[in-house]
Amino acid sequence: MRLAKRCVACDGDRLGHVPAVLMPFVADRIFGWRPAEISPEWGLRDIPAGMACSICKTTMCEDCGMLFLDMRFDDEEMAALYADYRGEAYTRERDRFEPGYAARNAIMLEGSAYIGQIEAILEPYLGAKPRVLDWGGDTGVNTPFRSRAMQHDVYDISNRPMVEGARSVDLDTVKASVYDLIVFSHVLEHVPYPRESLREIANAMRQETILYVEVPHEEVVRLSENPAQRLDRKRHWHEHINFFTPSALDAVCEDVGLSIIEHQSFPIAAAGKNSHVFSILARRSTRAAVA
Ligand SMILES: [Zn+2]
Repeated sequence: MRLAKRCVACDGDRLGHVPAVLMPFVADRIFGWRPAEISPEWGLRDIPAGMACSICKTTMCEDCGMLFLDMRFDDEEMAALYADYRGEAYTRERDRFEPGYAARNAIMLEGSAYIGQIEAILEPYLGAKPRVLDWGGDTGVNTPFRSRAMQHDVYDISNRPMVEGARSVDLDTVKASVYDLIVFSHVLEHVPYPRESLREIANAMRQETILYVEVPHEEVVRLSENPAQRLDRKRHWHEHINFFTPSALDAVCEDVGLSIIEHQSFPIAAAGKNSHVFSILARRSTRAAVA
């Protein structure tokens, strides 16, 4: 695990931070750190008795407004966090730490109810039977246009069985294929190095490929106009380690050689509550993506 010293979106170095808690489920799964009660029996002279949880920092970039966890997990730690993600044992264990999680997860697994909204945004840019790649698309259940796509490919490390009509592909196949649409939805908020993740996709795009990126428009970002307030209000971290602002996502796109065609921010009904997402449509800019 490394600690971010620069903004993970725009690479700026003007960062503010406040102390926060790495949620016990995440801390236990990755590091085996569980909350502990410090009692007088511990015999600590200079530390008061009380609950100790895993401390971390909420970091905010003063240039692009990106809000993020300072900890950047390595491959092994990411594998530990995402093993059996939302599977039976994972859900049971998480529900122990966070009562109510299992019920919320069941709603999430039903599939997304707003695919129609996304298809309406993308429709003007695509033909009748697009060739679609869902990057990080799990089983392919939420891929836009999956009922009418000429080709429905999914690149995902989870190795779960695909929905009917979808084909699981590896990175070499992705690079050798031509897609009209690449979907990269609800992945970027999880990854330790968003610029590198998006660069890999930009490099796999052709001139004609449309990229659709969607991330949560988190309430603390959306509703806190004042940056200091935004920092103060974010005191815990789950597996969403990056809270993007629109300008933070713009900065990442620009860095990897993508031109944004459209921005969208819209409410969705997910997990039984009203959430917001924001998304962009992009093409490769004439400037080639930096390798
Ligand atoms: Zn930044």
